[in-house]
Amino acid sequence: MMPVKCLFCRIVNGEIPADIVAEREDAIVFRDVSPKAPSHMLVIPRRHVDSLDEADEGMDLGALLRLAAEVARDEGLDASGYRVVINTNDDGGQTVRHLHLHVLGGRQMTWPPG
Ligand code: 5GP
Ligand code: ZN
Repeated sequence: MMPVKCLFCRIVNGEIPADIVAEREDAIVFRDVSPKAPSHMLVIPRRHVDSLDEADEGMDLGALLRLAAEVARDEGLDASGYRVVINTNDDGGQTVRHLHLHVLGGRQMTWPPG
């Protein structure tokens, strides 16, 4: 098999290690290597799509959002609150081109975002 170049596909394939929080048939959750909050997890589909803009009808975005809420609950963030973010393309600040949802919590978030 050809080596996969996408960083998050490589995490999905177990080619590079990650601190996995949850595994589902179509998605995984792992901790961000450079956390921007006391709790910072990334929810990603196993299937590669570049960004939210590329998500087709076969991509169950609702399931990804529900999984974000589930891991936030498991992390004890539901009562205090948390933020789910999908940076999309250049102006959105997306640096890894594999769709991912940030789940951030454990501190007061500010608005507007930077
Ligand atoms: P983006 O900037 O694309 O919205 O988010 C990409 C996120 O992936 C960043 O928060 C960054 O810290 C995280 N990240 C980048 N490389 C790795 C890695 O190799 N492992 C993990 N766990 N997170 C990563
Ligand atoms: Zn990928």
